[in-house]
Amino acid sequence: MKVAFPYMGCVTAYDWFLEHLGHKVVMPPEPTQRTIDLGVKYAPEFFCYPFKIMLGTYIEVAEKGAELIISSGGCGPCRAGLYGEVHQRVLDHLGFNTEVVIFDSLFQDPKDFFRKVLSVKNNTSLMSVLKYFSIGFKMVEDMDAIQRKINILRAYEINRGDFNEAFSKIKKMYRKCESKKDVLKTTVEANAMLDKIPIRKVREEERIRVGIVGEIYVIMERCANNSIEEKLNNLGVEVETVQDISSWVKHNLIPRRFNKEKSWQVIEKAKREYTPLNVGGHDLENIGWMIDFAERGFDGIVHCMPFGCLPELVTRSIIPQISKDKNIPILSLSFDEQISSANVQTRLEAFIDLAKNKKKKPGLFEEFEFKEAAIV
Ligand code: SF4
Repeated sequence: MKVAFPYMGCVTAYDWFLEHLGHKVVMPPEPTQRTIDLGVKYAPEFFCYPFKIMLGTYIEVAEKGAELIISSGGCGPCRAGLYGEVHQRVLDHLGFNTEVVIFDSLFQDPKDFFRKVLSVKNNTSLMSVLKYFSIGFKMVEDMDAIQRKINILRAYEINRGDFNEAFSKIKKMYRKCESKKDVLKTTVEANAMLDKIPIRKVREEERIRVGIVGEIYVIMERCANNSIEEKLNNLGVEVETVQDISSWVKHNLIPRRFNKEKSWQVIEKAKREYTPLNVGGHDLENIGWMIDFAERGFDGIVHCMPFGCLPELVTRSIIPQISKDKNIPILSLSFDEQISSANVQTRLEAFIDLAKNKKKKPGLFEEFEFKEAAIV
């Protein structure tokens, strides 16, 4: 069967996994302006930005003959729970013969989850599915760790582009792995490759660290966030983001009782300090991560949300209070098809100036009465 999936950050392990299940993979192209235009044209107008970019990708893979699209869904009260259904209707309406299969959290409906596993496993035995999943997951986990390392070191790169070039090579190295042993060996080689890249040395007090929180697709897909991590790195800022695929999988697949993921701990913090209600998406998690970044001494936080995203609008309404209580600058940016790269760049530059000045003169921020000014 010709199978595809949405493009969302680094997708190296997805095609590896599906190929090992015996599928012919229709590789989704990295989203471009055409992808966005297609999504905007055929999506209901007020649907959220990630829905539109994903729809554009689905149309592009359907045009290439994909018969099945495998994606993850969301439970809870926001629009994520409707993505699969509405994507399917639009594809049907456009005359494509492509089925969309959505995997929700295992604990939402275990029976339905396993029914879907059986439908996509092809003729592969369940033991082999587990084996490939475990190798593929290790690949994703290690690549996420590499990406996190790059988001810190790239802030100090001497020759612009060295880290991006290395990451492209690293992805190809992982793609050749056939076992966990290969993955572990590749991870060692990848780290050695990154450690050889020349970087500027900075004193501890010169480091500027910014945490990125927000809606998962906008955080992970650079087409949706105007390459925000890279823009910040290019301003000499270390970046830590809170969402990646390996964390999402661990958050959703490990039973809550045994789940030691920090994402669950920060949710408890958010509930204790700000709001007990989950309105969907990653709202509580994001509030918790903001508290966590402030407690870890970060210099600022950037909150990324798709325009019109209900859960992140709720988060945004609490941001002024968090910023005041925790004495940390927070910039909230809203992304949609109208946003321009220059717009994001200008706001980030102004925000980083603020964060740097606050670091030099710690009393400065307390004098500044935080209003909606930092929300754009
Ligand atoms: S979290 Fe926001 S952007 Fe994502 S599906 Fe829900 S409403 Fe849409």
